[in-house]
Amino acid sequence: MVIIGAGPAGLVLGNLLLRRGIDCVVLERTGRDAGGKRARAGFLAAHTVRILARNGLDGGLRRRGREHSVCEFRTEDGRFRLDYRRLGRSEPHTVYPQHELVADLQEQFLVAGGRLHFDTEALAVTDADGPAPSVTAREADGRPRRWRARYVAACDGRHGAGRRSIPPGTVRRHHRDHGVTWLGLLAEAPPSMDAVGYALHPNGFAGHMARSAEITRYYLQCARGTRADAWTEERIWDELALRMRAADYGPLRRGPLLQRTVVDLESDVLEPLRHGSLFLVGDAAGLISPSAAKGANLAVLEAEVLAHALTDALAHGDPEPLDRYSERCLVHIWRAQEFSHWMVRLLHDASDTEGTSLFQERLRHSRLASLRTSSTQQDWFAENYVGI
Ligand SMILES: Cc1cc2nc3c(=O)[nH]c(=O)nc-3n(C[C@H](O)[C@H](O)[C@H](O)COP(=O)(O)OP(=O)(O)OC[C@H]3O[C@@H](n4cnc5c(N)ncnc54)[C@H](O)[C@@H]3O)c2cc1C
Repeated sequence: MVIIGAGPAGLVLGNLLLRRGIDCVVLERTGRDAGGKRARAGFLAAHTVRILARNGLDGGLRRRGREHSVCEFRTEDGRFRLDYRRLGRSEPHTVYPQHELVADLQEQFLVAGGRLHFDTEALAVTDADGPAPSVTAREADGRPRRWRARYVAACDGRHGAGRRSIPPGTVRRHHRDHGVTWLGLLAEAPPSMDAVGYALHPNGFAGHMARSAEITRYYLQCARGTRADAWTEERIWDELALRMRAADYGPLRRGPLLQRTVVDLESDVLEPLRHGSLFLVGDAAGLISPSAAKGANLAVLEAEVLAHALTDALAHGDPEPLDRYSERCLVHIWRAQEFSHWMVRLLHDASDTEGTSLFQERLRHSRLASLRTSSTQQDWFAENYVGI
C-alpha cells in the first residue's frame, strides 16, 4: 500500500493500517519538520476525537486540547451567543491545532515502525486501472523511484499527484468558487474573547478563533487578489477591531502576526472517490471551504473508513467495503458541503458572486434573525456545526 501525503488523512490512514498489520509506505513531499509547522485547522469534532481515541492516537490532544462550545455573532443589531453543547444533540469541539496533531501522528507512526519518506514528491500514479498500480516519485536526493503496490491512497490534497493522475472523463468534478477571500492570520496574542467570534460588518466578515492561551487565529474578508503582505499589521488590527466592534464589546489583545495566508473559499469534490486501485482521501477527495471547520474532520473520518475497507480487502479477502468506500464518504462530504455553503452565505455579503443585491442582503439578515430567535434553527445549527 502506498500513501501519498503525510497530512491528517495520510497519517491517520498509515497509523491505522500499521496497527492492523497492513504493509504501507507514506511518501511526503516536504521535510520532517514542515508538517508540524503548517498552521491550519484547530477545531476537531467530537467524532474525530473518538476516532483518534479508539485507535490510541489521542495522547497529545488529551493532554493539550481544550473543549470548546460557544460561538458569538456580532452584527449591527447587537450580539448573541450560542452554547452549542447545550443545543440539540450536539457536543463540544476540541481545540487542538492541526500542526500539533500532524506532529503527534507522525511521531506515533515512526515509533510504531512506519516507513515515512520525507522530501519525496510523488509525480504520478500509473496503471491505477489495474491490480498493480505504481507511484513514480522524486526522492530526497533528486533521483526518481518507482513504488509498486496493490493499492494507492492519494492523501496529497487538492493539487496533489493523485488527483492529477486520474484520466480526464473518468470521474466527475464538482467545483464551486464561493467568490469570497479570507486573509487568514495567526497572532501571537491571547484570545480576545471566550468564544469563537463571527463578526458581520459592512466592510466584510471578521473571525476570531482561539488556538491556545498564547495564539489566536483571526480571519478578515478581503478583496479577491489581495496579497498576503498587502496590509500593515496596524491596519490589520485596526480593521479587525472595527469589524469585531471592539469599541462596544471590548478591545482585541494585539500581538505580532506569525503567519498570513490568503484563502479563496472554494469547494471541489470528485465523484467517485476512486479510480481503479487509486483512492482519494481528505482534501484530495473533496476540498471544502474553511467556513465551518470541516476539512480536517472529514479527512480523519475518510481515513478510518478506508483503513477498515483496506483491511477487509487485504487481510480477509473481502473487497465489498472498498467498493462502498466512495458512496459512504460522499454522504458525509455532501452534508458538510451543504452546511459550509450555508455558513458562507450567512457570514458574507453575497455581492461578490451574485451581484450587489439588496434582496440577497435581506435574506442574509433574515437567516441570522432565525438563528438568533428560533430554538429549532439553533438545534439544527448545533448539530451541523459539530457533526460530520
Ligand atoms: C485557513 C484554514 C483553516 C482551516 N480550519 C479548519 C478547522 O478549523 N477544522 C477543520 O476540520 N479543517 C480546517 N481546515 C481544513 C483542513 O486544514 C484540511 O481539510 C486538512 O488539512 C486536510 O487534510 P489532508 O491530509 O487531506 O491534506 P493536507 O493537510 O493538505 O496534507 C496533504 C499532504 O500531502 C503532501 N503532498 C502534497 N503533494 C504531494 C506530492 N505530490 N507528493 C508527496 N506529498 C505531497 C503535503 O505536503 C501535505 O503534507 C482549514 C483550512 C484552512 C486553509
